[in-house]
Amino acid sequence: MIRRAEELVAAGLVAPGRLDEMRGVAEKFAVALTDEMAALIDPSDPKDPIAAQFVPSGKELESAKDEVADPIGEERFSPLPGIVHRHRDRVLLKPILLCPVYCRFCFRREAIAKEGAVLGRADRERAFAYIREHSEIWEVIVTGGDPFLLSPRRLGEIVRTLDGIAHVEVIRFHTRVPLADPSRVNAALVRALGSEKALYVVIHANHPRELTRSAQEAAGRLIRAGIPLLSQTVLLRGVNDDAAVLEALFRKLTAMRIKPYYLHHADLAPGTHHFRTGIEEGRRLVRRLRAEVSGLCQPTYVLDIPGGYGKVPIAPSQIERDERGWVVEDGCGHRHLYPADPAEDAG
Ligand SMILES: *Cc1c(COP(=O)(O)O)cnc(C)c1O
Ligand code: SF4
Repeated sequence: MIRRAEELVAAGLVAPGRLDEMRGVAEKFAVALTDEMAALIDPSDPKDPIAAQFVPSGKELESAKDEVADPIGEERFSPLPGIVHRHRDRVLLKPILLCPVYCRFCFRREAIAKEGAVLGRADRERAFAYIREHSEIWEVIVTGGDPFLLSPRRLGEIVRTLDGIAHVEVIRFHTRVPLADPSRVNAALVRALGSEKALYVVIHANHPRELTRSAQEAAGRLIRAGIPLLSQTVLLRGVNDDAAVLEALFRKLTAMRIKPYYLHHADLAPGTHHFRTGIEEGRRLVRRLRAEVSGLCQPTYVLDIPGGYGKVPIAPSQIERDERGWVVEDGCGHRHLYPADPAEDAG
């Protein structure tokens, strides 16, 4: 486990001449790299996509225009510690703001790995009381940080408490542990996730190289316990802003029985401008994937609107209306006419 600037140098991941740069960034944003992720890095490749995600860069200290501490406006929708309630039917529950690895582009980077990162007992009880009192909450999304860093006992408590709330029908966990620290997904953790309710696990994965044999085995342990797996990916310059890389990632996930769920446009988090692609570029990539790759491998390309207005799909539309009816464009760019319903014109 690597956490300090000196350890990055000792492990040969950065040149000794960059120690001060590493120290400068580490003072502001947490650093952590598991042995599994460190082992995937090729130190001789200055553009290594795994290093880009986890090894700090001095660029993080440059704040670009429009970047904000809370890029998706979570504070506004947090009625009490550990809860974000933006959409009527679902809440985020954040029991722990620590992660197995610290992604350099993280949208919660100003909130995580600070003092009080683990939600205390009194706050947990207040969070559960909130969920119990709000009968419109159909789904609880347990996120963080990374909830799989909790002990199996603590995780089991969360699952059992949610099991006991009748209106909560779906429990969802968001995690990077199955890839970043696969051995943590052991029998005790899998047992803790045993629930009578639908329980989904969404795994954060950005590059096909993260899908190692051990990650595959960890995913297999969850799947054999009857847990459906989904993935979410952040579109990142220098990591996966390439049609072949995205294709390999989504094919590999799908073949591992992990259904690609979201492709996130990178958020406006502080010091992350070097990771952001343009939206036009993202649309070009997803359009090409749609034309060439199995429908099972297609995530929804979404933007979380700054200010807390929610996620919206932003893939290019391939249909438009003209005076003749609907004009639909196929995967090769050819246009076809589809009749409008007479009732659409009646109004
Ligand atoms: C992303 C997010 C969700 C989950 O959204 P889905 O589209 O259901 O995956 C819920 N609440 C908040 C505040 C979110 O940011
Ligand atoms: S695992 Fe998620 S919450 Fe943790 S640093 Fe990465 S993006 Fe942020």
